[in-house]
Amino acid sequence: MKDVIVVGGGVIGLFCAVRLRKGGARVWLLDSGPEHPTYYTPIASAAAAGMLAPIAEAPSVHEMVALESFALWRSMQAGSEWADGVRFDGAVIVRPTQSDAAAFAANAARLGHKAAHLSGGEFRKRTGFRAKVDQALFVEAEGTADPLRVLTGLAMQAHALGVLRAYDTDASEVTATSVTTHDGRVLEADAVVLAPGAWASEKVMSAAPALKRIRPGKGMVAAVEIERPLGPNVRAGDFYVAQRRDDVVLGSTLEFDRFDRKVDRTKIAELHAAAERLLPGDLRLTDQAWAGIRPMSPDGWPMIGPSAEGVLLAAGHSRDGWLMAPITAEIITAYVFGNEIPATWAALSPERFEHP
Ligand SMILES: Cc1cc2nc3c(=O)[nH]c(=O)nc-3n(C[C@H](O)[C@H](O)[C@H](O)COP(=O)(O)OP(=O)(O)OC[C@H]3O[C@@H](n4cnc5c(N)ncnc54)[C@H](O)[C@@H]3O)c2cc1C
Repeated sequence: MKDVIVVGGGVIGLFCAVRLRKGGARVWLLDSGPEHPTYYTPIASAAAAGMLAPIAEAPSVHEMVALESFALWRSMQAGSEWADGVRFDGAVIVRPTQSDAAAFAANAARLGHKAAHLSGGEFRKRTGFRAKVDQALFVEAEGTADPLRVLTGLAMQAHALGVLRAYDTDASEVTATSVTTHDGRVLEADAVVLAPGAWASEKVMSAAPALKRIRPGKGMVAAVEIERPLGPNVRAGDFYVAQRRDDVVLGSTLEFDRFDRKVDRTKIAELHAAAERLLPGDLRLTDQAWAGIRPMSPDGWPMIGPSAEGVLLAAGHSRDGWLMAPITAEIITAYVFGNEIPATWAALSPERFEHP
């Protein structure tokens, strides 16, 4: 039996721990934070909007892996501990001009997905908003995970499967086969997976220098009130609105190299003003807003696979960690068990950031 230590209990570490355990490994999951995160816990996974949005407006080298991850979300939902935290209601994409909308539709079609043009009336019907919006498209292949609900479900699943979880436990030193905790315990394993988000310490980074390429990307979202429950996500250029299980959020900002999680009300007001321009009177701000720190990689895609030093990295998920969590766990599991790695997965290797 393989022994694996996963460092980091955000969405990435939790998905990896559960998948590795299901694959037959004995798994330790260490996290320096508490067992039950809230929006105000300093991890990206809890603060996120949770949109599962695999289709972008432009082609990308990793787009097929993103679609693969989205398909995994769908196939894993039924019977899972987090099933009621995920919804697949598609998305309404709003673009400023007809040619921008056409470009999005063409890219979706190239990927085998339809992006159907919506008339003003259809936009209102789909969203429940009163605004008259042109250049809107509907794509079916999109969803939303309610972060706190799904994190709780994943933790329950990990517990039920027998993952050995240790919270309030900092991994202070790491090698390819061992972890030393802040209180001096040394754990040994066949493989160590690092999923530290934006929070790797200098010492942890020295075990896998590719982690040094990850920059913090502060992001804020606000809870909003709307008249009728929103079905699909609404994504415009400068804001989005997403209905989760228990609330609706307006997002989001991005500021590089900021680790503080102070909520800047001016920036929230700017976000709301952008939404007001398109959807006047449809969204009311509440007093709830929060910030999280995204782990931003240089190309916006995660690094998944062995570092030069032999530590497995599942890091740098940037703005798409929720979307990419299931496929990250598949890829990490394939590396741990020595299974075949398709070229599209190998392309996400940390190697691309190891040689500047
Ligand atoms: C405002 C906002 C909106 C977002 N919206 C979306 C979205 O709509 N869709 C989407 O797909 N993604 C979204 N994201 C991005 C997504 O949230 C992140 O990419 C993802 O959560 C990263 O997960 P993670 O597990 O790598 O990191 P984190 O969630 O930060 O978790 C890392 C964990 O590692 C632990 N850790 C770190 N170092 C150590 C150590 N040495 N020892 C022990 N534990 C350690 C930390 O305590 C933490 O619990 C958003 C992010 C933000 C902030």
